[in-house]
This record gives sequence, C-alpha cells and structure tokens, in this order.
Amino acid sequence: MNIVILSRNENLYSTSRLVEEGEERGHKVEVIDPLKCDLIIEQHKPTIYYQDRYLDYVDAIIPRIGASVTFFGSAVVRQFEMMNVFTTVTSDAIIRSRDKLRSFQRLSKAGVGMPKTVFTNYSRDVVEVIEHVGGTPVIIKLLEGTQGLGVVLAETKNAAESVLEAFNGLQARALVQEYIAEAKGADLRALIVDGQVVGAMKRQGKEGEFRSNLHRGGTANYIKLSEPELKLAIKASRALKLPVCGVDMLQSNRGPLLMEVNSTPGLEGIETATGKNIAKAIITYIERNR
Ligand code: ADP
Ligand code: MG
Repeated sequence: MNIVILSRNENLYSTSRLVEEGEERGHKVEVIDPLKCDLIIEQHKPTIYYQDRYLDYVDAIIPRIGASVTFFGSAVVRQFEMMNVFTTVTSDAIIRSRDKLRSFQRLSKAGVGMPKTVFTNYSRDVVEVIEHVGGTPVIIKLLEGTQGLGVVLAETKNAAESVLEAFNGLQARALVQEYIAEAKGADLRALIVDGQVVGAMKRQGKEGEFRSNLHRGGTANYIKLSEPELKLAIKASRALKLPVCGVDMLQSNRGPLLMEVNSTPGLEGIETATGKNIAKAIITYIERNR
C-alpha cells in the first residue's frame, strides 16, 4: 500500500515510528507536510498537488495534524476523503475533538462520566457558575488549549473571577470545571486503536503541579486499566467517532471521569511506558480496514 503520514516534521518520534513500522510491513510510506499541499477542487475530480506531483496514488493516510494548523490540516484530510482515500481519523472528527466544549456536549449525551462542567458567556455571575460545579477550587480551561497551557486551578472565588475576567477580556472562551482533587495531579491515558484499548499509562505531574502533561514535566508508567476505565475509554472513542485516539481520564471517588480525547495522540510516552508496539497496531488497523 501507499501510505501517507500527514505531518509537518518527519523527525518527530510518532511520525518516524509510523514510517518505520509501515515499511517493516512492506508498505511505501511517505511523510507529507499538509501545509504544502494545494487542494484542487473541480467537478468530479478532486486532487491534491504536492511539490511537483499529484497525490493520486495514495491508499491510506495517517493524519498527525497539530492544533495550530487544524483549519488547513483538516481541509487536506477532507480532500483525501473526497478522493476515497482511507484515513485513520476523519476531518470531521479532528475538528470536533479540538473543541473541548463541543466534545463534552457529545460525550455527555453519550452517557460518558465527566467532571461537572459549565460553559458561560457571562462572567459576572461567577459565584453561580462556581456553585454549579460544587464550589472552589475550580479548574478553568480554554476551549482550545493543549499541553496543559490554558488550564488554570483557581483556589478561591476571587481567583476564579479574575481568571475568567482576564480570559473574557482577551476574547478567549473558557469552561469552568469541578476540580478532582483526589486525582492528586495524575491522570490515565488509554491509547485506542480500532476501537480497542491497546495500551494505557498513568501520568503523574511533577511535584506541586496539578497538571500531569508530559510536556509539563510529568512522568508516565504502565497501568492496567480497571473494567470501568476500559469501558469509559471505548465509549468516548465511539461517541467522538475516533477509532484511533488517546482518551484521558481522571480517577475520582465516583469512578473514572473523562477529561479529554486526543485525535493525534503522541506515541513516545505510551510506547515507552507500556513497551508495546502501538505504531504497528495503527498500520495493521489500516491493513484490515482500508
Ligand atoms: P490539555 O488539553 O491542555 O492537556 P487537559 O484538559 O488535559 O488540557 O488538562 C491538563 C491537565 O490538568 C490534565 O492532564 C490533568 O492532570 C489536569 N486537570 C485537568 N482537568 C482537571 C480536573 N477537572 N481536575 C483535576 N485535574 C485536572
Ligand atoms: Mg491533556
């Protein structure tokens, strides 16, 4: 098969691992920068022009679209979809998963457990908003933040008010969420391929940090998920129509709660923590489903 990885940098761990495993299984694998693609739109014959050629020979794509290039990146994925090329994640699912509010609305409808969350456009009623999520401390999150940037822990009502005012002043939309203190700065990441959990890790934030992001200095260890955690992860992946994704959960006193679903999960942390060949799982998923 001709497999294309849509990625801006072929030296990234995840990208190079996917190339390696694809070639290992006898495929031709190319890394293509989505931002350098021209989308040619005409009647009956959608195509993509890249550098000096038309990408009309591609059998499957693996999008690794960064959050900063969601608009153009997802348009490239959509163009491949119009050309009947198999993709591990659809353009619609990428766009949906990038907006935390939009994802949460769908997930709550699907019955996925999550921390109590409120979205408000009117920051003057901060007291009520805080009460809706069970009082301070609260978590305040930008709708489109990643890597732990844009996630704030507000210990008091005054702090929450200032943060919401500041975000509002910057025209940045945010949601207010119940703080799950008992998670103790840790979260779970389940890696889903073909709708099944293929590996999981527990990430622990560094000392004094409530955010467990590896980009913020967190550490990761292999963990065997409980039955409710497995169920929650699979339900979330189905609700967002993401057969390949990373599902992040918090361990709370009332069971696992969904935090976010990532449509471009990194492979380095999870392969290192679990010792599993996740890149190969993604390639064989394509082989089975294309
Ligand atoms: P990002 O997209 O920036 O990674 P997350 O929603 O994943 O944003 O939040 C970053 C980190 O903050 C999480 O990995 C988790 O450790 C911590 N966190 C987020 N929400 C909560 C919450 N409601 N309660 C406790 N900790 C949280
Ligand atoms: Mg996160």
